[in-house]
Amino acid sequence: MGATKYIFVTGGVTSSLGKGIVAASLAKLLQARGYSVTIQKLDPYINVDPGTLNPYEHGECYVTDDGAETDLDLGHYERFLNVRTSQANNVTTGRIYQSVINKERRGDYLGKTVQIIPHITDEIKRRIKILGSKGKYDIVITEIGGTVGDIESLPYIETVRQLKWELGDDAIVVHLTLVPFLAASGELKTKPTQHSVKSLLETGVQPDVLVLRTEHDIHMSIRKKVALFCNVSIDSVIQSIDVPTIYDVPLKMLEEKLDRTVLKKLNMPLRNDPKLEPWNAFLAKLKNPKDTVEIALVGKYVELHDAYKSIVEALIHAGAMNEVKVKIRWVHSEKINEANVAEKLEGVNGILVAPGFGHRGLDGKIIATRYARESNIPFFGICLGMQVSVIEYARNVLKLEDADSTEMNEKCEDPVIDLMEDQKGITEKGGTMRLGAYACKITAGSNMEKAYGSLETQERHRHRYEFNNEYLKAFEKGGMIASGCNPDTGLVEVVEIPEHCWFTGVQFHPEYSSTVLNPHPLFVAFVKAIVENK
Ligand code: GLN
Repeated sequence: MGATKYIFVTGGVTSSLGKGIVAASLAKLLQARGYSVTIQKLDPYINVDPGTLNPYEHGECYVTDDGAETDLDLGHYERFLNVRTSQANNVTTGRIYQSVINKERRGDYLGKTVQIIPHITDEIKRRIKILGSKGKYDIVITEIGGTVGDIESLPYIETVRQLKWELGDDAIVVHLTLVPFLAASGELKTKPTQHSVKSLLETGVQPDVLVLRTEHDIHMSIRKKVALFCNVSIDSVIQSIDVPTIYDVPLKMLEEKLDRTVLKKLNMPLRNDPKLEPWNAFLAKLKNPKDTVEIALVGKYVELHDAYKSIVEALIHAGAMNEVKVKIRWVHSEKINEANVAEKLEGVNGILVAPGFGHRGLDGKIIATRYARESNIPFFGICLGMQVSVIEYARNVLKLEDADSTEMNEKCEDPVIDLMEDQKGITEKGGTMRLGAYACKITAGSNMEKAYGSLETQERHRHRYEFNNEYLKAFEKGGMIASGCNPDTGLVEVVEIPEHCWFTGVQFHPEYSSTVLNPHPLFVAFVKAIVENK
């Protein structure tokens, strides 16, 4: 294998242009041509990782197998590529500075003034090259978060400049910008793109390929104009037009020959035409549903759908697998009460109670869970959603009226959910939860076994509290069983109510590992139960 090639993806004009999706789509096409590809995200904020961020800030915190709390774009990378990411795939400014400062304290730079160039840029370079160094990947795609021109992005763009210089033909820059449509004059405007390329040029970086986000087809005359003003060849001006689903983007990029242009620039052979049969089979199912089901997603961040990104995508995958369209009814848990629950959830075919932290909106989640249980509506509780189902069952079926999680009420009489033993005494907040993949032993005959078709699995976690095993006997006698446990610690991973048509609460996060080619078995089983129950 030749040297690893590097593709840097930068963005201009505005954020939220979908850099992550374009990067993932390009990676998909290169992978479908037979190359091994990985994607990395560099985030310019100072938090060491997004684990300490409120979801309102940047949406969901995604978790990798090896326990990294990361940007949600890593979810797209895994969903598109069907390849696992790791700690190395997401780096923040906080982490870069933390490593440099730790080295400085150790004396690694003894005698020297520690500076952004070369020390910070060297550390960024090291983090980029780690992924290429093991010879595992032909191509590493590095997405730079933020927008060119931001003060915070400067060290990253400077690193890209240096790497382009050092790597020559082995590195290219794909720059994503916006071509807005002015309705009043009926025109597409290229000026913002020209300005954003100018500011990239000011930092010494010439983009090799421009991807223009647009609501309307960009005519050849406009492409020529962009090419002329921005020093790129005409075939390097690629449009990325709005599409009904993000899963169409790889096909649009294929039409625009983004993969060919990139490989040509990197002096790499085209190999075979992209093999996209399974991807197209998924799209065909997604676009031709035989029926529609409606699922209530009960959570406290429902104003920002990105807070539940992986759950939404996992439901899309599972819907396609079952050949139904999944419509989500976003239900704010703070707005549910005993009096309005029937009205809020009227007509839904399934209820999913979302993960979360803290007391806000908890009562509404409990009420919605009770409604699902008593009305025999398929129920899926994830992490806090599972804990809620345990609290609800304890209070309303086992008649332990003061049952609670000690996260919400430390002094409750019946702490059915309690702080994990190894979490006691931990005061620091960053990266200290039970994170990443752990094994789960599955009970025969359960919803779990039917879904996985196996008696064991591995799933990712992000929590501090757990089912209190002192109550396990009472629960099992009372009709709620533990159908999945950690084989080493006995920690209850899954609860089910066998009497109910499909009631499953999981301590782990199955949504993180659902991909287009491997929809998650529990989401598939949940939607299947909904279809059968409808
Ligand atoms: N707050 C709960 C805990 O820490 C659940 C966390 C979650 O839903 N991710 O255990």
